[in-house]
Amino acid sequence: LLQKAQKLAGCPAVTLDGMLISVNANVGCHEDTSKALKNGADGIGLYRIEQFYIGRTLPPTSDELLDEMRHTLSSMKGNSVCVRLLDVGADKPLPFVGFMAETNPALGRRGIRLLREYPELLYTQIKAIISLMSDYEVQILVPMVALPEDILLVKKMLNTFCIEHNISPLPKLGAMIETPAAALSASTIAPHVDFMSFGSNDLTQYAFAADRENASVETYYNDDSAVIFRMMEIVHSDVPDMPLSICGELAGSKEHIRRLLQCGITSLSVAAPLVPLIKETIRKTKVDLPR
Ligand code: PEP
Ligand code: MG
Repeated sequence: LLQKAQKLAGCPAVTLDGMLISVNANVGCHEDTSKALKNGADGIGLYRIEQFYIGRTLPPTSDELLDEMRHTLSSMKGNSVCVRLLDVGADKPLPFVGFMAETNPALGRRGIRLLREYPELLYTQIKAIISLMSDYEVQILVPMVALPEDILLVKKMLNTFCIEHNISPLPKLGAMIETPAAALSASTIAPHVDFMSFGSNDLTQYAFAADRENASVETYYNDDSAVIFRMMEIVHSDVPDMPLSICGELAGSKEHIRRLLQCGITSLSVAAPLVPLIKETIRKTKVDLPR
């Protein structure tokens, strides 16, 4: 299977019942993107920019960020790229934002919560991401959404920037569905976004109240549990027309591909080396949607 999968890596993944599924790669650095190209990824489904920020003593300018992004993405020029806004928090403090010790950092000011507090950090990212549009089909993904307001600030800043700079069409904007609150209120978030992407790692952590890094509670951390699929089904049935993707680890487990597609997911993003196997698994899958 693996040999065949590798040979067909660059070909599209279509299910036995004719559904075209895009299989993308998760990247964080230049090397990841080279692997994405080599493994036939259809695009970049999750670009994590945290590595570039952590360890810096000063916030990057948008030109510095843009240089870094261009370097990271260079081997996939011309493809689609989903850039996730900065997802750091109190457990990964940035030297240039006020550090506040928190008892429960995973439940604290991480992801979009921090950016709402520091809109200038958000602005830098939006400016750099917009500049990428000349070479990539760009999407923007908002991490740790729990409230519709978490999207609204981004949307407003994005709209204003694009009007001021005569940019059209706007890049597509998506919400990560990685808190149970977001999953169970998808219909109130939906009017503000173009797509949604399940972050099954955090969705599992928050659904089971089990720290994803803490081995002593790993029996509680079940990312392939019925609980997680149930939340995906709820999203799909509450917002049936919303394009759905998944970029957490669960997307890379071939045993669950059929179930994920049955939840309405049409795009997956996995670690680059898994792309060929996941594509080949899709080709052997009959989704057979329950009516
Ligand atoms: C997730 O939470 O599933 C996800 C893809 O994001 P991260 O692992 O970076 O938190
Ligand atoms: Mg996450």
